[in-house]
Amino acid sequence: MFLVVHTDLDATLLDHDTYSWEPAQEALSLLREKSIPLILNSSKTLAEMKVISAELDLTYPLVCENGSFIAFPNGGYFSQRTIENHFTNIEKGAGYTLCHLGISRTQFLAKIHQLRENNPLYEFEGYADWDSETISKYTGLPSEMAERSSARNGTEPIHWHGTDEDFQQFKQELTSHELKAVSGGRFTHISGLSDKATGLDELKRLYQATQSNKKIMTIALGDSPNDLGMLNAADIAIVIPNHTTLSPHAPDVIHAKSKGPKGWNESMMEVLHALLNQMESM
Ligand SMILES: [Mg+2]
Repeated sequence: MFLVVHTDLDATLLDHDTYSWEPAQEALSLLREKSIPLILNSSKTLAEMKVISAELDLTYPLVCENGSFIAFPNGGYFSQRTIENHFTNIEKGAGYTLCHLGISRTQFLAKIHQLRENNPLYEFEGYADWDSETISKYTGLPSEMAERSSARNGTEPIHWHGTDEDFQQFKQELTSHELKAVSGGRFTHISGLSDKATGLDELKRLYQATQSNKKIMTIALGDSPNDLGMLNAADIAIVIPNHTTLSPHAPDVIHAKSKGPKGWNESMMEVLHALLNQMESM
């Protein structure tokens, strides 16, 4: 058995208010000790995620912008050859190889702007239209953080100003271009068709290719509806409690008793002890 862990960040590994993962330290150390890959799988951009990954002292691939792409650190576990054999839509970034799991933002921006130009009822504005000051205002982030959030490769957050009816029509047009629009808290996100679960599946496939004699077992942790697909795709789903109650249909589902990193730690310790005992007795 070869374990791979996928985790959401906000309100899952990171505390909702303080962004601290300190309460998860014990389980993080155990993962490190056992060399179990910990994959950060988040709606955040690569620029945001690589800071967190470095702080956690991780060198694993990152699933960014809600599964839009996987960023493989140069010189990491997977060779350039393995990566290029598995993915076709590849972009080189600073220190990383970006593998798009759908249409990249560079590829679709012109298309959505053309749709807007052709139809005056498609009234929207997005990151591509805003300067950093405006992005700071809309996200509530200080300028340095707003800058990291605007370094986007896979998704375009927008504000829709038109009617709901026109939005439905816009969404249909997006579908015919292999794009989707998902409404979230502050923004509606336009992206290709992949999601966090696609990121989990693709990495499972890749780990399987390098660990052909072992069974890949995935554990996923998340707190929000946008984590549900990822939780469903895992062998063991750990639901971190939050406003909405998620009911994933993974083979094994665990509901953490505490919120954020404390719940993350308690559930992970429980699962890891059980799995490690099982592996030792095999
Ligand atoms: Mg979350």
